[in-house]
Amino acid sequence: VRDLHTWFELRQWGFLRVGSVRAVDGVSFDLERGESVAFVGESGCGKSSLARTLLGLYRPTHGDVVFDGHHLSALAGKDMQWYRASVGYVQQDPYGALPPFMDVRRILAEPLRIHGVTDRQEQERRIRQVLDEVRLGPAETVLEKFPHMLSGGQQQRVVIARALVLEPSLIIADEPVSMLDASVRVEILNLLRRIQTERELTLAFITHDLSTVRHYADRIFVMYAGRVVEQAPVNALLDHPQHPYTQALLAAIADVDAANAQHQRDVPLGEPPSLLHPPPGCRFHPRCPQAMAGTCNVDDPPVFEPRPGHQSACWLHR
Ligand code: SF4
Ligand code: MG
Repeated sequence: VRDLHTWFELRQWGFLRVGSVRAVDGVSFDLERGESVAFVGESGCGKSSLARTLLGLYRPTHGDVVFDGHHLSALAGKDMQWYRASVGYVQQDPYGALPPFMDVRRILAEPLRIHGVTDRQEQERRIRQVLDEVRLGPAETVLEKFPHMLSGGQQQRVVIARALVLEPSLIIADEPVSMLDASVRVEILNLLRRIQTERELTLAFITHDLSTVRHYADRIFVMYAGRVVEQAPVNALLDHPQHPYTQALLAAIADVDAANAQHQRDVPLGEPPSLLHPPPGCRFHPRCPQAMAGTCNVDDPPVFEPRPGHQSACWLHR
């Protein structure tokens, strides 16, 4: 991902231009095949917009995504179809993600049909394989069911099965468990991690919850106001956070190792910034306990590498 920007024009009464909401505002990173990464940040930090841009649902304002050597901005027609088949999407809200009038068989057959797998036997084989992988019980009892007949956890398993049915190499999961009962969250996260390992998939998690990522991600990207402010391997980031924002996020969690932490505490530092009028200088400066007047409120900090392989955009590392 190279210098990605996804801005949205904001208009009043449909025509009066108010400004640009800078949802993604200069994000660059590499994902290795087979890696599991998490993008962490508060709601409104741009992480869902980043996910939807990676999925090809939003067109970047600037910058590009290069996937297996193909530039997303240049993809059209058949190539775009190939890209869509290669990238699976697990939505936040299983209740809204599944069409209520389709049974599970049809929900899973639909992407196959759209992508040209029309042979009935082949469809059935693939459907049963993914159902098996997401541990959704005997196919006979599940395939005829409609979403409302399934629990939230089961629905999310169907969403995951649907994301897998085209055999993608990358899965993007946007807050895959935040709408689910606490009792099934760990199960679903474990399921995603197991499938990722077994299929050697690349997995990009979007989450606001730093307390669960240690077990599900190899690398963490912390997002703030449309940017990645810190990135490092998971243990380095959780044990030696470098950016004051990450430190504040971690301080807000009683026990980062509690995989079933159900409480989602907010950073006790006031409101997240506006993406329409982001603060000048470091975007975190109005909330930062270590902000240095004359520097942080004026100049945008570049990315430093305070420890090997550990990057943080903060003037304290200068
Ligand atoms: Fe805080 Fe300044 Fe670092 Fe921003 S650059 S996080 S305001 S110390
Ligand atoms: Mg979101």
